[in-house]
Amino acid sequence: MKVLVTGGAGYIGSHVSKALALAGHEPIVYDNLEMGHKWAVQWGPLVKADLADIAVLRKSLEQVEAVIHLAGYIFVGESVKAPGKYYRNNFTNSLHLLDAMVETGVKNIVFSSTAAVYGNPREIPIPEDAPKEPINPYGESKRFIEQVMEWYSSAHGMRALSLRYFNACGADPDHEIGEMHNPETHLLPLIIYASLGLRPSIQVFGTDYNTADGTCLRDYIHVTDLARAHVSGLAYLKNVGVTTACNVGTGSGHTVRELIRAVETLGGKPVPVTEGPRRGGDAETLVARATLARDLLGWQPRHSSLDEIVSTALRWHHHAIETGLHDYRA
Ligand code: UDP
Repeated sequence: MKVLVTGGAGYIGSHVSKALALAGHEPIVYDNLEMGHKWAVQWGPLVKADLADIAVLRKSLEQVEAVIHLAGYIFVGESVKAPGKYYRNNFTNSLHLLDAMVETGVKNIVFSSTAAVYGNPREIPIPEDAPKEPINPYGESKRFIEQVMEWYSSAHGMRALSLRYFNACGADPDHEIGEMHNPETHLLPLIIYASLGLRPSIQVFGTDYNTADGTCLRDYIHVTDLARAHVSGLAYLKNVGVTTACNVGTGSGHTVRELIRAVETLGGKPVPVTEGPRRGGDAETLVARATLARDLLGWQPRHSSLDEIVSTALRWHHHAIETGLHDYRA
């Protein structure tokens, strides 16, 4: 199947493209390269364009049977400070895409949603039918799109699967691709940068949470596992096709301090740590109920032990430094 992968030059999108190719599909990457990297597009052609370029978008859609939509801004903290940026890009540009899909007759879409749609959950692990009460514009912009897709399904026969990602991390085991954001705000790469001396230390955001060691707890999912869920999602849409949403996580969590310890152990050296206040927009604990993905998609995590996540990420960053791909600026 030919699949348009919006945001396919990004961290998750490039792993999705590789997973598609390994499963015998043909990814066509649609990315404006604002955040993505040309070197990450290795498994099919790149259309370098914005989702607001409606003519290019329509022409690209005419070539494919399905869409995997990952393009969008991803920083929770930034979304709190600049909400308009998030609504314009994540919401308005997704509307352009959905309308262009209706016009060109492409029905199936796997959408990159997020655990941030749940806000501060009342129940852990979080089931998909938990209340959606996002506490930041990033999560809210994704929730809007989930809802719009439900309405487009009843109005236009769209078949949509929203994958609610928990915390994506780790890297391709062949280190062909990996995480490379600039600026980087995510926990694991920042711990690794502190371990490698690329930044002076890692700051722990909040040590007074009601968790075992006082730091936030997250469900960390290996990006290769997450990527495979999209391929299973396409099969689900083709065979069943009922619009729905599904968590993609492991069902268990780790604290910030546990991640730091894992990098110290696997990296073989201490990581300099400072402690700071809580970060705005952070929930205390986010852990998925992971049974629906298994039942609906036949998907289960295979590579998401903390050891495998941290060791693949460490290998990737060493490789990126050795080959000059690293462009991190502290
Ligand atoms: N975090 C931290 N220091 C950092 C970056 C993140 O303590 O420099 C914490 C953050 O508060 C959260 C967890 O690490 O509890 C994961 O944050 P990240 O930004 O990686 O992902 P998010 O959960 O926001 O999607």
